Amino acid sequence: MNRIFLSGLLICASCGPRQAPTASPPYDPSVLTGESAYREVKQFVALGPKVPGTEGARRAATALINRLTSLGVTAERDEFRDATPEGTGVFINVTATLPGAKPGLIILAAHWDTKSGIEGFVGANDSGSGVGVLLALAPILKAGTKERPSVMLAFLDGEECQVNYGPNDGLHGSRHLAAGLVASGKARTVRAMILLDMIGDRDLNVAIPWNGTPELISAVFKAAEANGTREKFSLSRQGVLDDHQPFLDAGMPAVDLIDFDYGSAPGLNDYWHTPADTLDKLSPASLETVGRVVLRMLNGLYYSASGSLSPAN
Ligand SMILES: [Zn+2]
Repeated sequence: MNRIFLSGLLICASCGPRQAPTASPPYDPSVLTGESAYREVKQFVALGPKVPGTEGARRAATALINRLTSLGVTAERDEFRDATPEGTGVFINVTATLPGAKPGLIILAAHWDTKSGIEGFVGANDSGSGVGVLLALAPILKAGTKERPSVMLAFLDGEECQVNYGPNDGLHGSRHLAAGLVASGKARTVRAMILLDMIGDRDLNVAIPWNGTPELISAVFKAAEANGTREKFSLSRQGVLDDHQPFLDAGMPAVDLIDFDYGSAPGLNDYWHTPADTLDKLSPASLETVGRVVLRMLNGLYYSASGSLSPAN
């Protein structure tokens, strides 16, 4: 990612009355370690560039599925074609759904493709970081309580645009998944889509784009507070066009956890979409912070009989 496409002030967030959670939080956030997430990022980045439709992307998709399988999670490969500025492109979404005992679906997502046209680009932060945290979460969700809605881990292809974001360029995987959920009638069961993008920066500052569901933005802050890492999270005055947007457009609650200030000094962003986006710019501590906040959000995503979210961490 990502292109900032909006600016303005979002006043957050009138979330209304909350109901007390009906059970104790099911996950111990400390189970997720930064080292485990970092190892996953490292292995994934070592696979090389993952430009959609290339042999490298095919190998990476297979490696993702194999890794999920080795973690005890059944993965599905969804290969599809979509129009791009350079003709029809081939994309591969990888999803793994962990069934829960409660109704509804929570989607945890990250894109796994890497930006094309940049010599030497490996995408440690963009896209390795989000993938690594999702992979680190997989065995925890698998082993933990099922007293939760079902959780889908969604590894989305084709987030990056070739030329400029538009109906035929970028967000291919997220648009495909969102459309599929709408077509199958499952979209109305989605309680949250939580997107992780560029969350490994050593100097972590997750600035949540204002184009997100207010209740989920509020839930992030509550989780961050409970995690003791509230200072790492803020609400951005800018919106960001990212993989959560197709879900918002389809009426599903969604939020983007992204640190879009990735560079050698604040504001430079000179590691973003350059060969400098390498593992040494990341830290296990940042991955751990975001992973644990996600677990705390899951703990808080109880909802009332009316279906409204009731974050409580
Ligand atoms: Zn990018």
